[in-house]
Amino acid sequence: MPIALVESACQEVAAAIYRVRLPLPFALNHVNCYLLRDRDGWTILDAGLNRAEIYAGWQAAFAELGIAPSAIRRIIVTHMHPDHIGLAGRLQQETGAAVFLSPLEWEIAQATWAPNPQRAAIVTAYLRRVGAPAAVGAIVEEQEEKLRRMTQPLPVDVHLLRPGDSITLAERQWNILHAPGHAEGQIIFYAPADRLLLCGDHVLQRITPNIGYWPSSQPDPLGRYLASLRALLALDVALALPGHHGAITDWQGRLHELLAHHDARLEVAFTAAAAGATALEASYHIFNFDRFSPHEVRFAVAEALAHLEYLAAAGRLIRYEKDGFAAYRAA
Ligand SMILES: [Zn+2]
Repeated sequence: MPIALVESACQEVAAAIYRVRLPLPFALNHVNCYLLRDRDGWTILDAGLNRAEIYAGWQAAFAELGIAPSAIRRIIVTHMHPDHIGLAGRLQQETGAAVFLSPLEWEIAQATWAPNPQRAAIVTAYLRRVGAPAAVGAIVEEQEEKLRRMTQPLPVDVHLLRPGDSITLAERQWNILHAPGHAEGQIIFYAPADRLLLCGDHVLQRITPNIGYWPSSQPDPLGRYLASLRALLALDVALALPGHHGAITDWQGRLHELLAHHDARLEVAFTAAAAGATALEASYHIFNFDRFSPHEVRFAVAEALAHLEYLAAAGRLIRYEKDGFAAYRAA
């Protein structure tokens, strides 16, 4: 990796908070992780995937900031998606750091990324839910297996961070908030004194966070996401540091954009399903599949299902069975 790229990958974005931008092998080609400095050592917030170039990126960041492995005291993971948890286990092994997740994300991380003999049955049930033929199961499992390899080893002796608790990081007091929607048990961190927010993938600039209905989802993830965004409008935020793309300085403005985006997408989803459609069929009307990899198709279908489920919960669509698949039509 060219040295200039490595140097610019590590940047102080607030006092004692450094953003470490690491490469991802996806259409979304990077993840923002953070290094937080305290008197007793450093905290990593989100780890990236277990891949050689990401590991090298961390080594470069440690070298640049003069951090010895033993000075990494804590590794906090905002949510269990592979680009956030993937390297946590390996970094834990090498630094001896304690790893922290929310109880719900740790439970889902183990169910998803640890070897799970029930996984094939879970995938089959999910495919019926989205309207995809059973043959697609092999593609889904292959995709999951690829991602699973980039999350091993999982961390051990995980400590739990609960919404409502507070924690000291980067010499500030942070309130831990539950931020459901993109991931069921995602936690974000708010420092009222500095009006700073470490917002994970809950709110992003430039792209809208994927709000999907996954096998691990509780009912109506989109409804709970939109309720969370509305509640967060009241939060006084000067700077939000997200898991991808740039920092957010117009907090309320970005929340309003995301709320409007989903309002518009809900109307598209309603039109796509009004005469009867599965989530897979509706997703063809909502998204342009031409440029999608199988990885992205999964996100598109999960996002379509989340919108259809929202509309069903709101009473505008009804769920029914069509040729053995779950489908939706206007109420
Ligand atoms: Zn992410």
